[in-house]
Amino acid sequence: MKERLTNDTYVSLKKTVQDGKTLDLTVANAVAAAMKDWAVEKGVTHFTHWFQPMTGITAEKHDSFITPVDGGKVMMEFSGKELIKGEPDASSFPSGGLRATFEARGYTAWDPTSFAFIKDNVLCIPSVFCSYTGEVLDKKTPLLRSIEVMNIQSLRILKLFGDMEATRVITTVGPEQEYFLVDKALFEKRKDLKYTGRTLFGAKPPKGQELEDHYFGSIKPRVAAFMEDLDKELWKLGILAKTEHNEVAPAQHELAPIFTDTNLASDHNQLTMDTMKKVALQHGLVCLLHEKPFAGVNGSGKHNNWSISTNTGRNLLDPGHTPHQNAQFLLFLSAVIKAVDEYQDLLRVSIASAANDHRLGANEAPPAIVSIFLGDELTAIMDAIDSGNLYKHRERTQMTVGVDVLPSFPKDTTDRNRTSPFAFTGNKFEFRMLGSSQSISGPNIILNTIVAEELRQFADILEAAPDFTKAMDALVKKTIRDHKRIIFNGNGYEDAWVVEAEKRGLLNLKSTPEALQTFIAEKNLDLFNRHKIFSDEETHARYEITMETYTKTLNIEALTMIDMVKKEILPAANTYIKELSKTAIAVRTLIPDMACESQLNMISELSALTDSVYARTNALESALDSAKDCKDAADCAFYFRENVFPAMVSLREAADEIEILAGEKYWPYPTYGTLLFSV
Ligand code: ADP
Ligand code: MG
Repeated sequence: MKERLTNDTYVSLKKTVQDGKTLDLTVANAVAAAMKDWAVEKGVTHFTHWFQPMTGITAEKHDSFITPVDGGKVMMEFSGKELIKGEPDASSFPSGGLRATFEARGYTAWDPTSFAFIKDNVLCIPSVFCSYTGEVLDKKTPLLRSIEVMNIQSLRILKLFGDMEATRVITTVGPEQEYFLVDKALFEKRKDLKYTGRTLFGAKPPKGQELEDHYFGSIKPRVAAFMEDLDKELWKLGILAKTEHNEVAPAQHELAPIFTDTNLASDHNQLTMDTMKKVALQHGLVCLLHEKPFAGVNGSGKHNNWSISTNTGRNLLDPGHTPHQNAQFLLFLSAVIKAVDEYQDLLRVSIASAANDHRLGANEAPPAIVSIFLGDELTAIMDAIDSGNLYKHRERTQMTVGVDVLPSFPKDTTDRNRTSPFAFTGNKFEFRMLGSSQSISGPNIILNTIVAEELRQFADILEAAPDFTKAMDALVKKTIRDHKRIIFNGNGYEDAWVVEAEKRGLLNLKSTPEALQTFIAEKNLDLFNRHKIFSDEETHARYEITMETYTKTLNIEALTMIDMVKKEILPAANTYIKELSKTAIAVRTLIPDMACESQLNMISELSALTDSVYARTNALESALDSAKDCKDAADCAFYFRENVFPAMVSLREAADEIEILAGEKYWPYPTYGTLLFSV
């Protein structure tokens, strides 16, 4: 920008970006012209407003720069008006009833706080998306709002601490992205992977992840070549891909970028997922971003590393070295603890999906119960503050907030518990419940908003207090006392935790429909209203969309199962049974008193299993039929959870039994062993 804009334009654009000042049209025109020239030099002919509708993925509609001029010629043009606002005909994006089709027009508007980029020869302009009447229809607008709310409330706190230098506070995010790679030719043979992103059938292979020999293992050449290309493509887009390694499950890998501000991190994560899929195809691979592509081995998640930073370069979740810095740290930490405790439900909702339900609570991902890991040392400090006792660890120190220095604790001691859904890792929190395919916008909207809400309450109290230090000490103490039930440093995978969490009164929202119901609770509507994140209508719309998406996902999966059973599994089983029967008859013809025990036993076992698969398919079909009687989106989602889902599980069990018995060459699609160990 510095290279291509005049100084005035550059300064004015920067002002817009930093202070949220409105952009005037002359500046927009200059920026548009510079963007177009830059893009055209790189061979670009089209532009698009790149936005993030409530589907959770991104959308784009390409327009060319071409404008006709006299003499049958064309010019490449791009105006400020076109840069600032687009009008895609967007009637088919989910709106949760916010918009009737007759007023379907949606608007996109440039988000100058995220960088424009070139993807597939198209100039992409990161944009927000709203309806004709102004309702928010995307994931970016509320994220930007939540970032602003964090800024406002954090600055109030910093002022109280006498920090007049910082003029802007942002949240930062580094999302670690897990994924699977499978051979494309094999993928093509599986309808379940193609239609639903996960395997709906599949017997356990002789080897899974039990040896844990894949984790951080040496990277195979084909995967290494993919990672190398992926890095290059991401770097071209300005995405700082940093770490790549093999994950626990066979064929599973992870990529972590260097963290950046939350808005950019969110755009970048969308682009990363997109790029992963594309680059994989170029290598004859398919990148699976589904949360649970394979039963019996780990699923994929996304770790949302989150912190709070000032424009003066300070990380507000860094403990620091002076009493003053420590006190500030403890106040922000208290805000996070209170926020996570009071809004456990919203954090759970923010990562809820049919796919992620397979992971949460399974022995690989954090449980569906939200809790915070602080590490022993920080917890001991919290206890000391709470009880007023001496903190006895290395040195004996009285812990008076704002007076004493926190003993420094080595980073290592804070980062060893991988089972916690929300862990403090030295100078940031790591929210680990996110699913691998999800947009990180949702969880960060919630994180920013709930922490901002607590900071607001803190600032209200502290601004009115006659003695700041005393008030702050009391506030931190009270917060720890009231909310320490959310702190849990033990093993989150153990059943004992479920019991303990219940005793503590923590929520355990096991499935998406259950979790979602809390989204529209009064306290949550109030929160969103107070900070102008969502109106009641917008919250309800999101609630409806997520419920519907849950139902639709299960419906597609159920239909795919029925299709696979009828078109592939039963025909394969019958062919094999016929083959066995023919063999038995042939043997008997040759040697009449031969028992043919193995063939006869297998025939009866397989025939019984095909009967069972047939019956269970009918049961699944009738469960789907009865879904017609559901009253509304929530009713439907619960119905699918309680009736369709168990029928699917039961059908799979029987079908997988057949797979174990059937000869490999009779089996209609590649097995787990082949899929997981082919690359
Ligand atoms: P892990 O031990 O969980 O695998 P990694 O080193 O792979 O950790 O990833 C840590 C992530 O946290 C990286 O994306 C990193 O950039 C990010 N991170 C580091 N500091 C911050 C911060 N202050 N705010 C947000 N993210 C951060
Ligand atoms: Mg991590």
